[in-house]
Amino acid sequence: MAKGKVVIVGAGPGGLSSGMLLASRGFQVDIFEKEPVLGGRNAPLQMGDYKFDTGPTFFMMKFILDQVFLDTKRKAEDYLEFTSLDPMYRLQFEDREINVSSNPEKMQEEIDKLFPGNRETVTKFLSREKKRLQKLLPCLQRDYSKWNDLLSPEVLQLLPRLSLGRSLFDVLGDYFNDEKLKLAFTFQAKYLGMSPWECPGAFAIIPFIEHNYGIYHIKGGLNQISQAMGKIVEEEGGKIHLSTPVKKIISSNGKAQGIELEDGSRVEADKVIINADFAYAMNELMDPGTLRKYSPEKIARKKFSCSTFMLYLGLDKEYEINHHNIIFARDYKTNVENIFKNLRLTEDMSVYIQNPTINDSTLAPKGHSALYILVPIANQKAGVNWDENQVKEYRAQVLATIKNKTQLKDLEEHIVVEKAITPLNWEKEYNVYRGATFNLGHNLSQMLYFRPRNRFEELENCFLVGGGTNPGSGLPTIYESGRISSKLICSDFKQPYQI
Ligand SMILES: Cc1cc2nc3c(=O)[nH]c(=O)nc-3n(C[C@H](O)[C@H](O)[C@H](O)COP(=O)(O)OP(=O)(O)OC[C@H]3O[C@@H](n4cnc5c(N)ncnc54)[C@H](O)[C@@H]3O)c2cc1C
Repeated sequence: MAKGKVVIVGAGPGGLSSGMLLASRGFQVDIFEKEPVLGGRNAPLQMGDYKFDTGPTFFMMKFILDQVFLDTKRKAEDYLEFTSLDPMYRLQFEDREINVSSNPEKMQEEIDKLFPGNRETVTKFLSREKKRLQKLLPCLQRDYSKWNDLLSPEVLQLLPRLSLGRSLFDVLGDYFNDEKLKLAFTFQAKYLGMSPWECPGAFAIIPFIEHNYGIYHIKGGLNQISQAMGKIVEEEGGKIHLSTPVKKIISSNGKAQGIELEDGSRVEADKVIINADFAYAMNELMDPGTLRKYSPEKIARKKFSCSTFMLYLGLDKEYEINHHNIIFARDYKTNVENIFKNLRLTEDMSVYIQNPTINDSTLAPKGHSALYILVPIANQKAGVNWDENQVKEYRAQVLATIKNKTQLKDLEEHIVVEKAITPLNWEKEYNVYRGATFNLGHNLSQMLYFRPRNRFEELENCFLVGGGTNPGSGLPTIYESGRISSKLICSDFKQPYQI
């Protein structure tokens, strides 16, 4: 017999991970998703014979996904085909390129070749970050419902390792003098949509995680994770209602009671989980006057990530470049300042190009390729008018940058299908507040106890999952948000989480 009824708003990675965990524990789970496809920013994007990931392409910390599957008594490999990438990625500067490998010998050879004399320092950096991750990981896997959760032994042990008051770039300065080497271990701040000069130093764990555990491609794209999770929700008796937008959360006397759909029908539930973008949901899905801590005015004062300009190109030609390529701006620091401080679009941009067809023949016809291009830019706070002309102009600048800086000289002649996504599209079509694709920033004032909590403090029986909530905005932390909320709901029903 079902233990309790749970409705989930949104079938993104957060909603799906909590959905599969709760359905496999006997809860009656109903997920309501506004789009006709599963996955949210992790949905597949199909154009003709070409397949793309909409958002995430770097898959790290596979052990967390493995655990989520194991928590439903399943093996991730029974649903997904993983390929470990070596090199993990190629970093291209004006004067040199670095092939970054998680194989220590290969990495050391690359460091000796490009940055002689730095081998020991790299080893020292990675071993120190290993210790930091050991302390930080348990803090990213727990709930912070009460203020004294901050005094838990895990958090107290973490404090000396938080590098308080120091940015990622400062921390790397303790190890490396060479600017490019520092960038090779700090550009990862962009995964959080942050500047390395502002991102907390504790995130030096990210390069360690890459080097220690590697990064993976999944056959068919990372969107297949969401598809697999949706399958498990249904195998466990849960229901997914696609093309069913939610209009609001129904609440009374500070308690969530269910949801109202756009068509006016109401669905009652014991627990409501919100997976839609946190800041969007606070502003759009709550009755006016319900919120104090997260009122629209207070949300507007929070710090948000940058946005991205995306181009997805289906091409009738194969290209040899690596799976993941990061092309740095000539003046990277100014480029970063233009994104985060000056809120300006400039021609000297950094570009990420994914060429997954070299490892995955399912994404494009033989002899063709499906290129994914991402340019970090300011979010909608910049006030850019993303009309047709602006899109055309910026697209041309992005393609010109790629032509000038890479071996991809003839892209325009081979485009069969294409699509652009701008900050405005993220905001209006994907319901992402300010088009800030990586959600709330990860400043320490917006982390752990200070990040929107999984047990939502403003409404009883309401839970938060997804990138804008604890613990953070990448896929592994989003899956953890699903686990934390599921554990909290089990405990409310006095049911052990373990099955
Ligand atoms: C371009 C890009 C690149 C990224 N790259 C990486 C990467 O390489 N690695 C990584 O780990 N992470 C990456 N991320 C970050 C993160 O992993 C993804 O954004 C992830 O999809 C966020 O998951 P989520 O569950 O928080 O929200 P979402 O994926 O946004 O899911 C929320 C869901 O709620 C639905 N919804 C919204 N409003 C309503 C409503 N009113 N009614 C019903 N449904 C609604 C949406 O349609 C969506 O399906 C990237 C993100 C982007 C955008």
